[in-house]
Formats: sequence, structure tokens, C-alpha cells
Amino acid sequence: MKIGIMGGTFDPIHFGHLATAEAVREIFTLDEILFIPAARPPHKLGRKVTDEKHRLAMTILATRSNKFFKVSDMELKRTGLSYTLDTMTELHKIFGSTTELFFIIGADSLADLSKWYEAKTLVEKCHFIATTRQGVDIDFSEVRNYFGAAASEHIHRVTTPELEISSTDLREKIRLGRSIKYLVPEAVEEYILRERLYDDR
Ligand code: ATP
Ligand code: MG
Repeated sequence: MKIGIMGGTFDPIHFGHLATAEAVREIFTLDEILFIPAARPPHKLGRKVTDEKHRLAMTILATRSNKFFKVSDMELKRTGLSYTLDTMTELHKIFGSTTELFFIIGADSLADLSKWYEAKTLVEKCHFIATTRQGVDIDFSEVRNYFGAAASEHIHRVTTPELEISSTDLREKIRLGRSIKYLVPEAVEEYILRERLYDDR
């Protein structure tokens, strides 16, 4: 089995996440993609993150029309900070050690990978698929140098559709009362409006 992991705050989930996951699934012939909303991302401690029940609900709504997409609340159920290393260890326990895990990571996040908790151990345990993100140009050789030649074989680069969408922009649009149509699945848009998320006017 080859499983893709799409981790994120998903505050809210948008077509950038979904299109990237689908492209990676095809290119790497993955058996499924597991979307894992993060509980308390260590790098986003400064910002207020929307209640996890809403982020989970939106992730489920956004992925339900793709039979290869699954959602896991494992990070939400865990106490303490969300470390990807713990998640990968847990997934290896669930799926067996022969299952290959491919963590999908945007170019913006790859630039910080060396700062992640136990980054070198993490890169040995699973694959990283670094996807392109608009406006982000990262020095891949710097990443290779940090992790060394052998470990970098677990870091793959792939070109994915670059949709200029970010959760930050979406939250701002909603705050300003602007449309988010065609940037998120309809069910997600409806959910946001119904629950009055991001609308602190
Ligand atoms: P925020 O603006 O709040 O940081 P975000 O849009 O970056 O939100 P995250 O939940 O932080 O979304 O991202 C989760 C993962 O999805 C990261 O690896 C990120 O690089 C990737 N990602 C986010 N948006 C896109 C996009 N438009 N295209 C490709 N990858 C994306
Ligand atoms: Mg981000």
C-alpha cells in the first residue's frame, strides 16, 4: 500500500489542497490520500485557529466526492502538540510497516522542514512529496544538503497545478464580506456561511 498524507490546518480547506492531493495521487499512483487536520500546529501557536470540529467537518464535506480521499481525526484526538513524527509512527502501526507513507508538503512548508521536530528521523521514516506553490521558489539543493544524499532520496519534487488560493486569503475575503465561490467546494462555502465562520464583523 502507498498512502498519501495531506496534513494541514484546513482553516478552511480549499481547492488548492484538493487539486494538489489529486495530482499527487495520480503521479505517485497512491492507493489513497488521508487528510489529517492538525490540532495545534506548533508553527501556528500565535494565531487563533478555528474550532477543530468545524475544520474536521469542512474537510469531510470537501473530500466526500472522491473515493480515494479519506479523513482522519487522529491528530485532533491526541493531546499536546501535533508532531508529524508521532502521526507517521501511529500510521505505521495501523497500516503495517510495509505500507509506504508519502507526506505531501507545499513548497512553502518544505523550506521549513529542517526545523520540524526530529526532522531527520522523520525523513527516514516516510517520503516527502514537495509540491509547487505559486510565488514560492525554494532552494532544493539547500534542503538536500541539510538532509544528506541518502535521506534526500525520500524527498521528491513534483509539479502540481498552482492554484493561487490560501486559507489566509479566504479568511480575509470572508471578513470583508467578499465571495469565496469557486475557491472552495460548494458544501464548504455553505458550511462557512451557515456557521458564520471567519465573520468577525
Ligand atoms: P494558511 O494560509 O492558514 O497558512 P494554507 O492555505 O497555507 O493556510 P495550510 O492548511 O496551511 O493551508 O496548508 C496545508 C498544506 O497544503 C501545506 O503543505 C501547504 O503548503 C499546502 N497548500 C496550501 N495551499 C495550497 C495551494 N494553493 N496549492 C498547493 N498546496 C497548498
Ligand atoms: Mg499555510
